[in-house]
Amino acid sequence: MDGTNPPLISGPHPRHRGGWIEVICGPMFSGKTEELIRRLRRAQIARQEVAIFKPGLDNRYSEDRLVSHSQVSLPSVAVTRAEEILERAGAAQVLGVDEAQFFGPELVGICRELAGQGRRVIIAGLDQDYRGEPFEPVPQLLAEAEYITKTLAICVRCGAPANRTQRLSAESARVVVGAAERYEARCRSCFEPPER
Ligand code: ADP
Ligand code: ZN
Repeated sequence: MDGTNPPLISGPHPRHRGGWIEVICGPMFSGKTEELIRRLRRAQIARQEVAIFKPGLDNRYSEDRLVSHSQVSLPSVAVTRAEEILERAGAAQVLGVDEAQFFGPELVGICRELAGQGRRVIIAGLDQDYRGEPFEPVPQLLAEAEYITKTLAICVRCGAPANRTQRLSAESARVVVGAAERYEARCRSCFEPPER
């Protein structure tokens, strides 16, 4: 926005640049999608324009909706490249992106650009992969974000707060899409890192 073009969003002033980034991260089943949906619904109720994206490969339940493991849902747009979020953001004041770990490192610059335009950007994703290693680009987004929420599940072994995702199958690819049939929430002590 250079002052000669109309503002991208309706704000208190054309030069209002009050954008920011929020990250919701944690293991699978910790309620990241539920929390993302909760924040986006509240913005919609306040009549803010909201755009919601998720990666096209995550077709766990639905192609065009964000759906939590508890079946709460909200319409969304499936995209394959992070750039499409920028292209399809339109005039939305609030942007939601789920499954951030399935986008490449480009997502960081895209979020920076959108926040720089004065928008509220809410990102949800896994902070660790099935080995317990940082899952890019979520760690980079945590460094960049104004607000961070770490969600915890409940360890299915011992009931402690769980911050790890245990893969139950022997597959070794970093991205293997699945839900309760392939993964379960485990705490630090019950997590069994896969052999290398
Ligand atoms: P995430 O996006 O973090 O994978 P979701 O928001 O999709 O999580 O789903 C959260 C829901 O998953 C919970 O409300 C609960 O119904 C369900 N769930 C399944 N297993 C667990 C678990 N071990 N601990 C907590 N919630 C679980
Ligand atoms: Zn445990």
